Amino acid sequence: MLNKNKINIVMADHAGFCFGVKRAVDAICEALNNNQENKEVWTIGLPIHNPQEVKRLEELGLKVANSINEIPDKNAKVLIRAHGEPLSVLDELKLKNAEVIDTTCPFVSRAQKLAADLSKQGFYIILLGDKNHPEIQGIMGHVDKNSKLEVIKDEDEAKNLKVFNSKAALISQTTQQEERLAKVAGVLVSKFRELYICNTICKATAERQEAVRALAEDSLNKLDGMVLIGGKASANTGKLRDIAAKGGLQVLWIEDAAELEANAGWFKDKVNIGIAAGASTPEWLIKEICSKIVLI
Ligand code: SF4
Repeated sequence: MLNKNKINIVMADHAGFCFGVKRAVDAICEALNNNQENKEVWTIGLPIHNPQEVKRLEELGLKVANSINEIPDKNAKVLIRAHGEPLSVLDELKLKNAEVIDTTCPFVSRAQKLAADLSKQGFYIILLGDKNHPEIQGIMGHVDKNSKLEVIKDEDEAKNLKVFNSKAALISQTTQQEERLAKVAGVLVSKFRELYICNTICKATAERQEAVRALAEDSLNKLDGMVLIGGKASANTGKLRDIAAKGGLQVLWIEDAAELEANAGWFKDKVNIGIAAGASTPEWLIKEICSKIVLI
């Protein structure tokens, strides 16, 4: 025991799995546990941005394909991730006779459906988000082939956007900030005679960010630091780190309990420790880390 003080843990109001990720992980576990036909259970790409949870699912039997080409032509059960997939992937899976279990998050499905319907109605589809993100690629894959489509990441790209059509629909990646969507919409409104703005942003990201901000401003508990739990490759968890640091908190960002030992010095003389976690961090990992922190 390095810390002579008893550590008090203050948990962020929203931490860990969002609704869509929990739903997808539950479906994977169900497919693995309930597999009388003894099919191979696959996802295309990592099912979740959390290496510990991926490892747990792989140990239960999940197979992760890098691309659809790795899915076998028979005896495969394929779970579509919360990010969704383009229609072409779903068509290809049919040709492979795969049993498909679609766990696309309903918030993402809504964005896909809007993109499909509005593109068929002749709208120029403008997607706000990261063009390399699987969610945006999935939405792009629902846009009608005859429609004009562009992905932009911010207000500046909106200003430079070429106008092909008098009517456009602006659809957002679910994890974007509302403030950015409003700014982009403000630019586009003067470029098009008709602009359809779809607020497809889900609250989960904003709720986790707000919870970290609240921890930093918590005058009652006055935190000495915050332990942030989440995959190091997760951009959303990185954003939580930035918010906490901006709020004046010392942040220890870890992926698993094994990292606590190497960082035991960080806890020296700290009493009130906030805990936050990204939307891909499972509850079992948060519990495991909390139970070890109080023993430091
Ligand atoms: S962040 Fe929102 S849209 Fe994405 S999976 Fe979670 S609940 Fe669904």
